[in-house]
Amino acid sequence: MTDKNTGGDVRLRGISKSYGSFTAVQPLDLTVPQGSFFALLGASGCGKTTTLRMIAGLEDPTTGTVSLGDRDVTDLPPYKRPVNTVFQSYALFPHMDIQENIAFGLRRRGIKSVKKQVDEMLELVQLGDKARHKPHQLSGGQQQRVAVARALINHPQVLLLDEPLGALDLKLRRQMQLELKRIQTEVGITFVHVTHDQEEAMTMADQVAVMNGGRVEQLGAPADLYENPRTTFVANFLGTSNLIEAEVAETGTDIVVTAGGGKLKVPGDRSPSAVRSGGKLLVGVRPEKISLAHADDEGTIADGRNRVTGRIVDSSFIGVSTQYVVDSPAGAGLQVYEQNIERDTRLVPGAEVVLHWNPAHTFGLDASQDID
Ligand code: ATP
Repeated sequence: MTDKNTGGDVRLRGISKSYGSFTAVQPLDLTVPQGSFFALLGASGCGKTTTLRMIAGLEDPTTGTVSLGDRDVTDLPPYKRPVNTVFQSYALFPHMDIQENIAFGLRRRGIKSVKKQVDEMLELVQLGDKARHKPHQLSGGQQQRVAVARALINHPQVLLLDEPLGALDLKLRRQMQLELKRIQTEVGITFVHVTHDQEEAMTMADQVAVMNGGRVEQLGAPADLYENPRTTFVANFLGTSNLIEAEVAETGTDIVVTAGGGKLKVPGDRSPSAVRSGGKLLVGVRPEKISLAHADDEGTIADGRNRVTGRIVDSSFIGVSTQYVVDSPAGAGLQVYEQNIERDTRLVPGAEVVLHWNPAHTFGLDASQDID
């Protein structure tokens, strides 16, 4: 299947959903660019499935509109929308073989000659040799691929995926993430993927909307969200962040803060706009951006790096990295991940250390006003 669609962007404008007095989705505006792999990411209950179901037409919005390109589809029933949904439960027909399952949508529409399209789909999901198998003869990942093929054969403009990999074990999940990404690139249509798994969203999506409490907290490319979280929720939901409470000493291109008796630099363009001297700032740095030196070796640390002193309280070797927990005057329980270090050069609990990192890898968060 090589036809690239021309359906246009998915646009949600002021869309919300309330159940009685409970608001599952707060009014939100979201544009999903045509042809992108877009993830709605958040913890259970944050409203991501409800948002997806409003795009599908399976849920009526309380307010707002859904458009596909120039077309307002808010009042169209699901079957009249050019979208298809793949659910976590693949819901394949157990008595039909794989090719019949895939052909189902075409046959229901009265299309008789389906072989060419079914073969194309089987090839797309790399199950050509399983055409005559029944679903129970396939692995979970293969069944999920059949569900994707069955949805794509209808040539939707948008494929909606609701935790489609949720039932798979971790290894298979990882394989299927790459597989779904490959399929999306090949067919070129818009995929909107709901997941609570941040690694999954980061692996697959061009853009991720991080949802919390029925709102989109932040929208962006995975690397941007990871490097520039704007709220503590995003900083903690996507990976691990060290967040150090600090007081602003100077503002400018770089913001200088004091924390635990020392000074740290935070790039001004990675901090909230309303930072003022004397105000509070949460200073964030990812554990893998930090290096450790013995306190005795502090002189070897290059000038210009952010540094705080501390004492190792725990260290664990987890294969790809050694993970340290460090108590510091700047904050207790700081996390540091160091890669590729020899077993005998690892630091042991009790060691006095200096944590140091490039200020460019530092971000600032406004602790008092979490969503800006
Ligand atoms: P999960 O990953 O657990 O599915 P989610 O982020 O997809 O979570 P939603 O399914 O969108 O969350 O639900 C958002 C909130 O709306 C939840 O608190 C849920 O209990 C509530 N909710 C969903 N459907 C209904 C309904 N039909 N009636 C009442 N409340 C509902």
